[in-house]
Amino acid sequence: MKGELNPMEANFMENLNLTIDGNRLWNRLMAFGKIGEGDNGGVTRTSFDQKDIEARKFFLKLLEQADLSPYMDAAGNIFGQIIGKNPELPAILIGSHLDTVNSGGRFDGAMGVLMGVEVLCTLKEKGIQPERTIKVVSLTDEEGARFDYAFVGSTALVGTEGSGKLKENLAAATDKDGNSYLEAMKQASLEGEYFNEINPDLLEQAQLGKNDLKAYIEVHIEQGKVLENKDLAVGIVTGISGGEWAEVTIMGEAGHAGTTWMKERKDALTAAAECIVAIEKIAQDNIGSVATVGKLEVKPGSSNVIPGRVDFTLDVRDISNERREKTVTQIYHSIRTIAANRGLGCEIRQVQSLSSVMSSPIVMKAVKDSLQELQYPVYELPSGAAHDAMVLGELTDIGMIFVRSKSGISHHPDEWSSFEDVALGCEVLFRTTLKLL
Ligand SMILES: [Zn+2]
Repeated sequence: MKGELNPMEANFMENLNLTIDGNRLWNRLMAFGKIGEGDNGGVTRTSFDQKDIEARKFFLKLLEQADLSPYMDAAGNIFGQIIGKNPELPAILIGSHLDTVNSGGRFDGAMGVLMGVEVLCTLKEKGIQPERTIKVVSLTDEEGARFDYAFVGSTALVGTEGSGKLKENLAAATDKDGNSYLEAMKQASLEGEYFNEINPDLLEQAQLGKNDLKAYIEVHIEQGKVLENKDLAVGIVTGISGGEWAEVTIMGEAGHAGTTWMKERKDALTAAAECIVAIEKIAQDNIGSVATVGKLEVKPGSSNVIPGRVDFTLDVRDISNERREKTVTQIYHSIRTIAANRGLGCEIRQVQSLSSVMSSPIVMKAVKDSLQELQYPVYELPSGAAHDAMVLGELTDIGMIFVRSKSGISHHPDEWSSFEDVALGCEVLFRTTLKLL
C-alpha cells in the first residue's frame, strides 16, 4: 500500500508542479478504504448500514477539521463549503459518493468526494476566497447495493420524481432482511448531530433550485479500459448513458417433474430463458444498446418441481435516448409475446428510468484548458456506467473527469488507480474549478 512517495513519484510531482497536495489526498483515500474493509480487501459500505454511518462520521469530522462548515440535508447528503464573496451567485458543486457495492473497491466514489475536499482545502490554503460559493458533496446511495434503489441523494436534490414519488419508492424498497429504506433513514437520523437533519418525510427540503448551482463536477474512476489502452491517466467525459431498470415476473404453474407431460407444462423458467436470449438478441441488433439480466429467482426452486414462477431483473443502457427507448420497447414486447405464446402470465415493473446526459461544453472546455496548461494530452470518452452527474444534469451543467482504472476493474477488491493518476486527476479538477469559479 502506498502511503508515501517513492522517488519516482516524487520526481513526477516535482515535474508537474502540482498545486494540490497529492500525498494528503492519497492518505485520506487509503484511510477511507479501511472503513468497511473485509478480509479480501474489498470495501462494503452500503447505504445507512453501520459502516456507511461510520464513513459519514469520518467525513463530517474531516470537513470540520478543514473548516469547511459541514451540513447534512434531509436526504442524508453531506456538504462542505467555502462561502463566496457573492453568495447569491450560483455555486460550484464537486462531489461523488461514499457508499460502495458489496465488497467493492477503495476508489469508486470516495476518490471523487475526497478530491472535492482537496480542492477546497487548497483554495483555503492559498487564501483564495472565490466570488461564488464552492461546495463538496457526498451524495446518499449512488450504488443502490443494499435496497436495489440507486441515486437517492442526487434524485432528492433534483426532485424530478417529485419528493412524494421518491418517498413512495423508498418506502417500497427493502433490503434482504426486509428493512425498508425509510426505516433505515429514520434509524440513521438518531445518530446525533448532523444526522438529525435526515428526514424521509421532508425530502422536498433537500431539493435545489435551478439557480442554486452553476455546475456539478465529478471525478470518477473510468471502470473500463479505454484510458489504459490509450496510455492516458485522465480523460474528459462527453456524456453519460441513461438507463432503464425493471423487474420481470413470469407466472407459470409448478408441477411434479416426473408426472407432468411436456405438453401440459407451464414452465416459468424455460419461458424466462427464452426471454433472456431474446433480450440479448435485441440489444445486439440495436448497436449501441447494452442489456443485462443479472439476477434470477426461481420458485419453488426444487430440483424435482417444474418452476412455477421466475423473477428476473433487466438493465438496459444506451447513450442515445431514442435508441434506448426503441430497445426497451422491443424487449417488453418480446417478453409479453413469449409469455403469451406459452400460455403464461407476465408482469413488467419499471423500477427506474434515466435519460442520457451530455456534458456541458463550458465544463468540458475548462477541463480541456486545464489539461493543456499541464501539457497533458486531451482525450474525450463517453461513460457507459451511470453516475450521479447524470441525475444532476436535469438541474445544472455537469462535467466529469475520468481517472484510469487498472485493467478496467471496478466494484471489486482489485480496483486500483495509481498515486500519479489520482494526483493528476485532482490537479485537473482544481484547475477546472478555478476556471469555473
Ligand atoms: Zn461510483
